[in-house]
Amino acid sequence: MNCTIIPIFIPHYGCPHACVFCNQRSITGQEQVPDDAGIKETIEKYLQTIAVPRGGHVEVAFYGGSFTALGMDVQERYLRVVQPYIESGEVASVRVSTRPDAINSDILELLRSYRVGSIELGVQSLDDEVLQLAGRGYTVDQVWEAVALVKAEGFALGIQLMLGLPGDTREKDVQTARAVTGMKPDMARLYPALVIRDTRLAVMYRKGTYRPLSLEEAVVTAADMFVILEGAGTKVIRMGLQPTLDLTGGEALVAGPFHPSFGELVEAEVFLRQALAAIHAYGDRLPDSLCLFVNQRDASKMIGHRGRNRKRLKEYWKTGELSIVGIESPERDWVGLGASRQDLPRWVLHREEFYSMQELVGSLKPAGEPAGGKVVTRVGKG
Ligand code: SF4
Repeated sequence: MNCTIIPIFIPHYGCPHACVFCNQRSITGQEQVPDDAGIKETIEKYLQTIAVPRGGHVEVAFYGGSFTALGMDVQERYLRVVQPYIESGEVASVRVSTRPDAINSDILELLRSYRVGSIELGVQSLDDEVLQLAGRGYTVDQVWEAVALVKAEGFALGIQLMLGLPGDTREKDVQTARAVTGMKPDMARLYPALVIRDTRLAVMYRKGTYRPLSLEEAVVTAADMFVILEGAGTKVIRMGLQPTLDLTGGEALVAGPFHPSFGELVEAEVFLRQALAAIHAYGDRLPDSLCLFVNQRDASKMIGHRGRNRKRLKEYWKTGELSIVGIESPERDWVGLGASRQDLPRWVLHREEFYSMQELVGSLKPAGEPAGGKVVTRVGKG
């Protein structure tokens, strides 16, 4: 079901920890902890302006700090503000984000009684060394315990992961994503670690003891994780931080792979891999002048940011001309292949089929040498 979120940010409030990457005030672009009146005002402002899709519902989400690390009385006070909107039917339920070690049966009972439906756990990594170096203050075992409690009580489970933390590697991030599929979460978010002003990570960066991922590394690793999670049925609902004024204006961001359209970059990388997989799968049956078809709404992802995918496909397809065509289609996320003079694809690789080809995709690399082929991009009804 389509869910429209009303976000309420509670920066750093209630959190006794100091994770190396965290300065919540910079990340949310908000220094003030909202009071009851502020929360009410935010909810009403959203309710007046949001367009809820047919069949969709509205959720109020407490993001930012660690909601369940607040005192029970404070949690109750915040949740009480939302109840009239639930009773009137304007809001369907509440979502909170919190730390895995701030979950217990009493807390879950309180959340349940105030119509909290989803709990997002800021897990970040399932590698004990990475968790320890990030100063998270809990272990992988504690994450599993929290997940078991949340699931046993029937809440929808969200898992937030961070890639590129100190001590992290692409392999560890991939392993973390694989392990997360065993938790069968309903949703996941992927955030590349950024160096934010006034954090311990900023100190480590200046001392040269921490190197953030490049944007390219972050996109490639996030694409690995996206494919694993989505392939196992977990919806990845966000990749990369919201581009707040602090982040885009450069005041909060010291270094790291921030991009305002990070999620789009990752999805473009996934489309590239899917196209390569399709070409590989249909191999010698393909015509010299090859046309890649996609839903026209996916065309920009297929072409890639500044034509990056087009360039890489050109390097890969040495046989002849290669064009990319967007056509009208009720379905998304497929890649079709055909001859460039055809209007419709002859072969289609759907996303689910692509996910099942992951062993094969790992061995596919675009050739490094320049190709003789010419790439034409044509977007519109094919
Ligand atoms: S637990 Fe959350 S709010 Fe607390 S320091 Fe870590 S990231 Fe920040």
